[in-house]
Amino acid sequence: MEKYRIKPGANVNLDEFDADDKSEFDGDKAEAKDALKEIAKDLDDLQERLYAEGKHAVLFVIQAMDTGGKDGTIRSVFGDLNPAGCRVEAFKAPTSNELAHDYLWRIHQATPRRGMIGVFNRSHYEDVLVVRVHNLTPKEVWSKRYDQINAFERMLTEEGTTIVKFYLHISKEEQKKRLEERIEDPTKRWKFNPKDLDERKLWGEYQDAFKDVLSKTSTAYAPWYVIPANRNWYRNIVVARIVQDTLRDLNPQFPESDLDFSNIVIE
Ligand code: AMP
Ligand code: MG
Repeated sequence: MEKYRIKPGANVNLDEFDADDKSEFDGDKAEAKDALKEIAKDLDDLQERLYAEGKHAVLFVIQAMDTGGKDGTIRSVFGDLNPAGCRVEAFKAPTSNELAHDYLWRIHQATPRRGMIGVFNRSHYEDVLVVRVHNLTPKEVWSKRYDQINAFERMLTEEGTTIVKFYLHISKEEQKKRLEERIEDPTKRWKFNPKDLDERKLWGEYQDAFKDVLSKTSTAYAPWYVIPANRNWYRNIVVARIVQDTLRDLNPQFPESDLDFSNIVIE
């Protein structure tokens, strides 16, 4: 999955990333579903160990254009985990209380504790994406945030949190299809927000903002992965494998007990 990882300092050009790519999976959609089930079993085991060990926190950040598949990815990749050990945080437009603080205030409170997996559906990156595209704060304020975010993430990793970030990459044509589906399919209408059409007009501005995010904030300690996301099944399998690799690298172990079990009798 290394091929999707953005190297620190890279000058990212999103046009060079094929949202239709499926080259890292040798099979079709049905086979990918089976493979995903296998990974899910392993994730369940890894998560239990992570929780039992209580040593590491793990944070997965998910960003995408509207309809990019954030919700679907979370359901497919993390949906089978024990809910006690995995917490999903969705960040909406800030409340007045949140706006009265610095932009990382609400984020820091939502970071996972040791033993937990945290999944961010949107994140502090909105503060250099929607905020930048809509001029919600002046450029001299948001332009300093890339360095601030790197410093924040560095601190988190140095204090025991592993961070991996996913940008789900869809094409503009795919977004059109998905927005149309939201109109046509009654079970998807609830997701349709007329504002998404205004956002779509700003596609280029958002892509520029993402380009800067990926170029400036993919670090050795908190890397970004650009996930080809036009095909849901491929997106899911790639994200699941990276999650699996991340947890395996931590190699969490059930802790040894210092109790003498030979003396314990249950009456
Ligand atoms: P959704 O994920 O579709 O429920 O929409 C959440 C909305 O909250 C999106 O329109 C985001 O752009 C918006 N949002 C999230 N974080 C921020 C932020 N820091 N500042 C402004 N808007 C935000
Ligand atoms: Mg939305």
